[in-house]
Amino acid sequence: QAKRAGRGRHAVFRPVMMSAHRARLELGDALRLGLERGELLVHYQPVVAVGTGTLRGHEALARWTRPGHGPVSPGSFIPLAEEAGLIVPLGAYILDRACRDAAAWPDLALRVAVNLSPLQFRDPGLVGMVAAALRRSGLAPARLELEITEGVLLERTEEVLATMHRLRALGVGFALDDFGTGFSSLSYLSSFPFDRVKIDRSFLREAETSDRDAAIIESVALLCRRLGMTCLAEGVEAEGQLELLARVGCGEAQGFLLGRPMPQAEVLRAAKR
Ligand code: C2E
Ligand code: MG
Ligand code: MG
Ligand code: MG
Repeated sequence: QAKRAGRGRHAVFRPVMMSAHRARLELGDALRLGLERGELLVHYQPVVAVGTGTLRGHEALARWTRPGHGPVSPGSFIPLAEEAGLIVPLGAYILDRACRDAAAWPDLALRVAVNLSPLQFRDPGLVGMVAAALRRSGLAPARLELEITEGVLLERTEEVLATMHRLRALGVGFALDDFGTGFSSLSYLSSFPFDRVKIDRSFLREAETSDRDAAIIESVALLCRRLGMTCLAEGVEAEGQLELLARVGCGEAQGFLLGRPMPQAEVLRAAKR
């Protein structure tokens, strides 16, 4: 290690860079092993109807606890999986688990939403992988919804559209995740076949005090109604936010106020109550 670092020309900076780089490689190896060893878990966060509070389904969220280190957030291990070439097998594992778990929920009307990385979306095996997960689990395809972000829609529009149509032909639905961040273009809403639009939680954060954020939520809710899609607000943490969503006609909500992401055992326990 010292010998290798000594050969570099920027001897002062190199060891630091080496260690950051090495830590990343190690984390990638740990994730690869963790995936093989079944360390990746899926938690489920409730989605409810605004107004009635009726449960509509759950969003599947990946969880990983690195042995000896503690929990790693998906905000860091998902990008790592993308870099390390692990996102396709990891995504397939999550989808498989989510379909099996949802198939075991007693309420057959509940849907399960699974996040897809843009890299998964470009994988030629995606449609076959989804079809296989549905077949193995026996889950009714209409109960599965795939969440994609605007990042998927930026390039190769024709291919993306063709893939979405092939997946729709299987019976699965689509949600546009984190709407309003990044490159949000209204044309996405008319060009791609979405069933649901998830307004990013950054808008709800200030909506009770900011007329502007409230106006944006109201407008997106209206747009969704006019286009025949359901509007879902992410990140509901306070009663006041839920009241605002009811006022502006936003159909569905998700957030810590309504339910935290929880393991399958807890989903099943809650279903019995
Ligand atoms: P996302 O798809 O937008 O998921 C919603 C995130 O918001 C989750 O974070 C959830 O725990 C969090 N959240 C929900 N309600 C609240 C709330 O009221 N307040 C706050 N502050 N946060 C709330 P999480 O689980 O850490 O996931 C972060 C992101 O990682 C996800 O954002 C998604 O982009 C990605 N991700 C998670 N699981 C997967 C997966 O299986 N595959 C892929 N490709 N990405 C995933
Ligand atoms: Mg999501
Ligand atoms: Mg989101
Ligand atoms: Mg998000």
